[in-house]
Amino acid sequence: MTEKVLIIGSGPAAWTAAIYASRAALEPVVYEGAITEENRLQGTLPLGQLALTTEVENYPGFPAGDLGAYLDGSIAKDRLQIMPPHGGEGVSGPELMELMRQQALNFGTRVVTDDITEVDFSGHPFEFKSLGGDEISALTVIVATGARANYLGMESEERFKNNGVSACAVCDAALPRFRNAPAIVVGGGDSAVEEADYMAKFASTVYLVHRRDQLRASKIMAKRAEDHPKIEIVWNHTIDEVLGNDSDGVTGARITNTVDGSSKELEATGFFLAIGHTPNTEFLDGKLELTDKKYLRWTVPSRTNTSTDGVFAAGDVADDYYRQAVTAAGTGCMAALDAERWLSARGH
Ligand code: NAP
Repeated sequence: MTEKVLIIGSGPAAWTAAIYASRAALEPVVYEGAITEENRLQGTLPLGQLALTTEVENYPGFPAGDLGAYLDGSIAKDRLQIMPPHGGEGVSGPELMELMRQQALNFGTRVVTDDITEVDFSGHPFEFKSLGGDEISALTVIVATGARANYLGMESEERFKNNGVSACAVCDAALPRFRNAPAIVVGGGDSAVEEADYMAKFASTVYLVHRRDQLRASKIMAKRAEDHPKIEIVWNHTIDEVLGNDSDGVTGARITNTVDGSSKELEATGFFLAIGHTPNTEFLDGKLELTDKKYLRWTVPSRTNTSTDGVFAAGDVADDYYRQAVTAAGTGCMAALDAERWLSARGH
């Protein structure tokens, strides 16, 4: 059977595309990603980056208030059980993703928990293979695979992944090794402040190590870090090496002052990266046009078309500029409408 619309991904772009495509009777199938150790380590498990965050305060429609009863009535019990408990204020990232997924399911979207690993756009219908061995053919595809957190790429960082090095404070901060001990967060953007703020709930001190003398984060977030009694911003420093040993994991980091060249060591049991993102485009194997930063290129102004006719892109995988949940959802809607019009122009 040839699918009318295959959607790859499971963040706000993918679920919004699925809601629109299913309501347009296109019977979309979503490959939401596989649950593998590799995906866990690199932050590409199903439900994407929002599933790795806490409160979402800037997605319209969820003002502060108790959403608990609504969640109980909307999400299947077995999935509610594996979500972090509802905090009682507004909506959290995992909750928002579950709600979007459920909304897509309600309109008949089929969901497969697997990765698409191979694509073939040389003929039409397009052909795909999944990690689990599925072979899929589809008339149109919406790529919404998002982006993942970057690491510095140091050997010492690699050595202590899972033993003190992480790119997700929200996932790992509550582990015993990080409690009441100092932690390091690297970066100066909104993510770094968010990670530092979250780490500060558990750590004794959080060193926010930034390579410049000014945060890139929005003013409100920057102020949150500067005013926080447990966050110490270490300005103008780069990381030389993550320090540690096999039994204790991370014990600190050696850092260098970019102004005077001096080095010093910071003691910490955690080393958290928040230095930007890489789009998840590797599986496309160069078969679609990418930007210099490896993001998918939208080839028609104000449309979601890619370099291959019938292939559309939505969300962070094609956006290195806005990268917000609401903009991803917006482009997901656009991609579904673009796919629908593409199909109907060809008599489908
Ligand atoms: P970002 O804004 O690109 O910031 C990345 C930070 O990492 C920058 O401060 C950068 O330093 C630093 N950095 C990059 N490479 C580095 C390296 N090799 N060594 C040391 N430092 C390095 O990324 P982001 O913080 O992940 O934010 C991405 C987008 O998501 C933004 O649009 C942001 O507004 C949004 N976001 C919003 C919220 C929120 O509103 N609550 C939360 C998270 C993210 P320089 O400043 O020197 O370039």
